[in-house]
Amino acid sequence: MASDRHIVGQRDDPEMPRFAGIATFALLPRLEDVEHADLAVVGVPFDSGTSFRPGARFGPAHIREHSRQLHPYHQIHDVYPFRDLQVADAGDIGVGPYDIAQAVQTIQTSAQTLTSSGTRILALGGDHTIALPLLRAAAAAHGPLAVLHFDAHLDTWDVLHGATLWHGSPFRRAAEEGLLDLDHCQHVGIRGGIYGPSELEDDRRAGFEIIRSEAFQERTAADIAQQMRARLGPGPVYVSVDIDVLDPAHAPGTGTPEVAGLSTREFFTVLRLLRGLNIVGGDVVEVAPAYDHAGLTGLAAAHTAWELLTLMGLAMFQP
Ligand code: MN
Ligand code: MN
Repeated sequence: MASDRHIVGQRDDPEMPRFAGIATFALLPRLEDVEHADLAVVGVPFDSGTSFRPGARFGPAHIREHSRQLHPYHQIHDVYPFRDLQVADAGDIGVGPYDIAQAVQTIQTSAQTLTSSGTRILALGGDHTIALPLLRAAAAAHGPLAVLHFDAHLDTWDVLHGATLWHGSPFRRAAEEGLLDLDHCQHVGIRGGIYGPSELEDDRRAGFEIIRSEAFQERTAADIAQQMRARLGPGPVYVSVDIDVLDPAHAPGTGTPEVAGLSTREFFTVLRLLRGLNIVGGDVVEVAPAYDHAGLTGLAAAHTAWELLTLMGLAMFQP
């Protein structure tokens, strides 16, 4: 893989160690410091849609801080994700905490400003509410999307406390709005509590097939990845990662933790088997630093973002 374009990569200053200086994601250039970005990381510090423990508004800064140790070479895929494509940190979307509908509109407008010039976005949340406006922007650019959704929870619920826009409803709203390819959406890691089987029926109507958390004990990662590929198909894929897909032992810093989740090893093994998917956008959400310990959750989220950026870059460079 090579390019004639001038690509600005990660900060490489022998006078400035990785732990020093202001943290952009992976020490990448800021968006305003490059001519054009193929891929942009953007923070969405919004958590007014949370139903339990708040705090994910501080997620983007926490993930950036824990991304300092991301190195340029990907050993599994044998690529330099920040060399062949221009990847940049677009900063945070300025979004107020009081009016959820207005925030969703602001996020959508900001995301579409980025995607209108061909940039693909990986968002750092924020709570899962932000997936809806991000899906709107991605679908406007690419058409109906196959969603690959890692989460302990379905997030296809309807109304809570009178609100239609909250962190448990983004994929139901997206299905209603025609943003999803209903034959090709996939949940992975589901295990959270539900009120009854009707929620699973609603979920099927929203276009999702479920791979539960227990599958990672019962089946091989290769077998699970093969099912995911078959379900998602060759069309445009949006990957949404709720960090609570991981077990609280691996990611305690989140708003609605659920026991018996994936280990980081199980999660990253399956992520690394997804090369070839046409990933056009994604997010890593629900990182709430106040409940984190020793940076476990920040580190897991930063590395998740790096794996997704690598897969997105491979999709752009080798379509
Ligand atoms: Mn969740
Ligand atoms: Mn979620």
